[in-house]
Amino acid sequence: MSEEKRAVQVSGLSRKRLMDIYERLYARFGPQEWWPGETTLEICLGAILVQNTSWMNAARAIGNLKKEGLLTESALKKVRRDRLARLIRPARFFNMKAKRIKGFITYLWNRHEGDVDNFLSLSTEKLHEELMGLDGVGRETADSITLYAAERPVFVVDAYTKRIFSRLGHFEASKNGDKDYLALQERLTARLPRDAPLFNEYHALLVRLGHTFCRPTPKCEECPLRAVCPYPGDEAGRINGKGEK
Ligand code: SF4
Repeated sequence: MSEEKRAVQVSGLSRKRLMDIYERLYARFGPQEWWPGETTLEICLGAILVQNTSWMNAARAIGNLKKEGLLTESALKKVRRDRLARLIRPARFFNMKAKRIKGFITYLWNRHEGDVDNFLSLSTEKLHEELMGLDGVGRETADSITLYAAERPVFVVDAYTKRIFSRLGHFEASKNGDKDYLALQERLTARLPRDAPLFNEYHALLVRLGHTFCRPTPKCEECPLRAVCPYPGDEAGRINGKGEK
């Protein structure tokens, strides 16, 4: 794609365009019912367990904790770290993740009376700041907890989001991952209504698209965004004002 054309597309990201993308995804995939988790504590643990692995692996680890009756703040405070690590083994990096979960739980007991909902009731800014201060909680994990457990309108930007919006012509990655994260998040947040259920569904739909069609080698033929996406062919007339093929 030429630099000139890319510049036009990057600046062409409007609320209308974003909602059009959303509606196409929703029409194809339907509601995703995220985040899968019965309690706010389970959602927080899931956000840590899913780091660098698939949701299926994280869900197996959560299933093990559930079977052992460990999905409470008290039980997780008491359980030994080595036992916890064994139980969450399916989520990979289990020693590191057991340490992170123990750190999260210790923080809850030290600062929030051992009650995750007490923690989640902080203002969005304070909650985010405290989450980011915890060991092993980066921006994506903190945003996932803020959106899916605390239900605040914070757009989660993951590798799928970057890849899809890059291919749609609305984002150019640099070598600075954190700067990219914030730039894309700001771009999306500034244009969408600040609505937690919308951000919830939008992110979940992007993940679904990234899993199914917009993979490293994309399956554009069947993609619900094919008619409005310039990638990979950049065929004239597919987008912006010349109608759909
Ligand atoms: S058309 Fe292809 S590149 Fe564009 S979003 Fe769909 S799968 Fe990704």
